[in-house]
Amino acid sequence: MHRGLQAEIQQIVLLTLFLLIFGFLNGYLLLTLLVGGGLYMLWTFSHISKLYDWLDQGCTGLPPEASGVWGDMGDSLYRMQKRNERAKQSRKNLSARVRNITSALTDGILTLSADRVLEWWNPAAEKLLGLKKSDREQSIINLVRDPRFVAFIQSKTLGPALELASPEDPTKTLLFTAAEFGDGDVIVVVQDITRLRNLEQMRQDFVANISHELRTPLTVLTGYTETLQDACQDDAADLPGHWKKALDQMQQQTERMSALANDLVMLSQLESTRESASSTPVQIAPLLQQIADDARIIAADSHTIILECAEGMVLNGEMKELYSAFSNLVFNAIKHSPAGTTIQIKSYATDNANFIDISDDGNGIDPKHISRLTERFYRVDQSRASSTGGTGLGLAIVKHVLMHHGGTLSISSTLSKGSRFSCRFPILKSS
Ligand code: ADP
Repeated sequence: MHRGLQAEIQQIVLLTLFLLIFGFLNGYLLLTLLVGGGLYMLWTFSHISKLYDWLDQGCTGLPPEASGVWGDMGDSLYRMQKRNERAKQSRKNLSARVRNITSALTDGILTLSADRVLEWWNPAAEKLLGLKKSDREQSIINLVRDPRFVAFIQSKTLGPALELASPEDPTKTLLFTAAEFGDGDVIVVVQDITRLRNLEQMRQDFVANISHELRTPLTVLTGYTETLQDACQDDAADLPGHWKKALDQMQQQTERMSALANDLVMLSQLESTRESASSTPVQIAPLLQQIADDARIIAADSHTIILECAEGMVLNGEMKELYSAFSNLVFNAIKHSPAGTTIQIKSYATDNANFIDISDDGNGIDPKHISRLTERFYRVDQSRASSTGGTGLGLAIVKHVLMHHGGTLSISSTLSKGSRFSCRFPILKSS
């Protein structure tokens, strides 16, 4: 039992005993009990009233002095009040600290309720998105109206980060990332990535320009090398025999450099066009037939090329880019598989996608390389780079062409069994 209550009961018992003895002695037992009980009740009411006054004053100062249950209750309330004050103060300190930290951030942070209503934001978000105090409790999609942002913020999964021009200053590029927290609430982080994008653009322009500039001198070099080779064949020119070998090598290397410059120009063009390819219908069967014919000439009977085409398949996009992607995959299969290998080019459709698969039964690729194959200049066997004549950019070009056409590339391979490069183009259902 609580100590205050114990003391109170003791007091009542002692008072009753005293009243009983006193009443018995003075001969007015009932009267003595009534008067004593009444006085006790008055004393109790006075303590209750003091306690109420103290509570009404917001528990400021010490609780009213009292003994027994009322003093104990006052002390307990006082301690509880102190604990609450301390907790309130530490919450205040914490929220002030969080506010200071978020104010110091250069990235914008916004919190939205589950129905995407703006609840809170930091000063950086205010600057990046041009938010005003009156925007609180507004739906975010009324403030950032770009349809891509609307789709991003309303999607259940809050998908991958979204890059958009700033609604405040279109020369700025913003990156939005969002995550769910609590009861379906959403936190959005907005980063200004303008500088990063500008640097990337500068790098792309530099590579594109240098590759473009290299093409003219390389064409001149190739032309002269061919003329000298022809002269070498001509006995009348009387050129020393060992020149022939040197000229052959010069021609081989200038051809490699030209191929590299061409691939770099193509990759730069693909990278610089962010929007999807034009939607010209491209008939896939004749395109693959052309690639298979070219491949048979290149392979010169060393490989068997099988073509299996779905009749009437049409992809919307750029014929030149699609030719480049599929031919890169077929020529790769020839380049990287030993003689006698069979290469299959197959197009087929399912309910929701068109597929173009290029598979071979060559040496296959170790699984540890597969995720890196589409990186620029990534080769499984660096030492074979010059012997295969590849530029190391083929699969990077394939990946970009597919992205440009809304497609994806998946690679599966088993060592000593062969590889399959599958290009998937989703069929967009018009609603
Ligand atoms: P490369 O110019 O070297 O062919 P790619 O980007 O086209 O560059 O290909 C990258 C690497 O992927 C190649 O160097 C090769 O090691 C590997 N590769 C590509 N296609 C095949 C294939 N069909 N079979 C085995 N390896 C392949």
